[in-house]
Amino acid sequence: MNMPREFPARGACMRDSTVTVPETLLAALKSHDRVLIAAHANPDGDAAGASAALGWTLRTLGKEVLLYNETGFPDYLGWLRLPSPVLRDISALPGKPGLVVALDSGDAARLGEGIQGLLREVPVVNIDHHPGNPEYGSAANWGDPAMPATGEMIGHLAEALELPLEGALAEAVYVALVSDTGSFAYGNTRPSTLRMAARLLEGGLDIAGIRARLDNNWSEGKLRLWGRLMSDARILDGGRLGVALISRSLPDEYGALREDAEGFVEQLRRIKGVRVALLLREVEKDGRIMTRVSLRSSGADDVRKVAAQFGGGGHRNAAGATVDLPPEKTLAVIQPYIRHVWN
Ligand code: 5GP
Ligand code: MN
Repeated sequence: MNMPREFPARGACMRDSTVTVPETLLAALKSHDRVLIAAHANPDGDAAGASAALGWTLRTLGKEVLLYNETGFPDYLGWLRLPSPVLRDISALPGKPGLVVALDSGDAARLGEGIQGLLREVPVVNIDHHPGNPEYGSAANWGDPAMPATGEMIGHLAEALELPLEGALAEAVYVALVSDTGSFAYGNTRPSTLRMAARLLEGGLDIAGIRARLDNNWSEGKLRLWGRLMSDARILDGGRLGVALISRSLPDEYGALREDAEGFVEQLRRIKGVRVALLLREVEKDGRIMTRVSLRSSGADDVRKVAAQFGGGGHRNAAGATVDLPPEKTLAVIQPYIRHVWN
């Protein structure tokens, strides 16, 4: 149900005095008129939301903006209002941008192979919240692992540029915040995050409408797929490890999409006693069978260290990697590393 709004939109821009946006970053953004905004491939709500939010911000400032993502945005965010189409092929760029802004990408490789050449040719701004980001921005870097979402950083950036968090910009920021904080429930949620959420509401954000668009959009196929994943889930290591394996063909069996498995790892974490949740998805890359690994934990249990052993990364309680082995073999190889998490 849509409640009537009780508070008038403020119009004026409130800022959070506890957060400082680097001046070098603002200067780099101001000095370029054609900006390509890129985020990590297979984007989540934070990568997609932060991209859209920065795009709206720069468009409001009169700049030419193009969003780029090697794998495109997921179907479940198809309703998100975007400041430009999402380009997937760099060779189709309608001219060279003056600046590339990389978002939510702990390293440059996560942006995908297609954009690597361009990153060497034009100035790059890197805005990210992953620990260990190597500051690959040639023009400016803003890395803050204490930020729960890159989208929160973009919200502060928009406010530093005196834009109120309203309309499509506010929606995009909100999608980013809820995606990376588990709707303000994970330990990464900060007072500044909740204050920003309050400003979004003051700006007129329709949170119930967004919640319905985010949550109440499952296909029957996704429901059946999750049913199968729940019945097949393995509980290992004396109940401390929850595992689900997904073959490439499984989603098809249920008329589901590959992306429908996204988020299932959170279900495994819900099991009492499970300290590490592990989702292993079979993928094909360059003709080889590989495994996309998603890891989740809680509190002090650090799964980023496990992902890092396999060339991946992420955050303490949410991390991922791609392993050059099929899922069953990946499980055998990764399980000893996972045991270090609780030992
Ligand atoms: P997810 O399991 O949702 O794919 O990813 C969880 C977290 O780990 C996200 O913050 C994501 O950015 C990070 N992550 C996932 N896969 C990789 C990877 O292959 N490399 C790095 N560096 N980080 C990853
Ligand atoms: Mn993120």
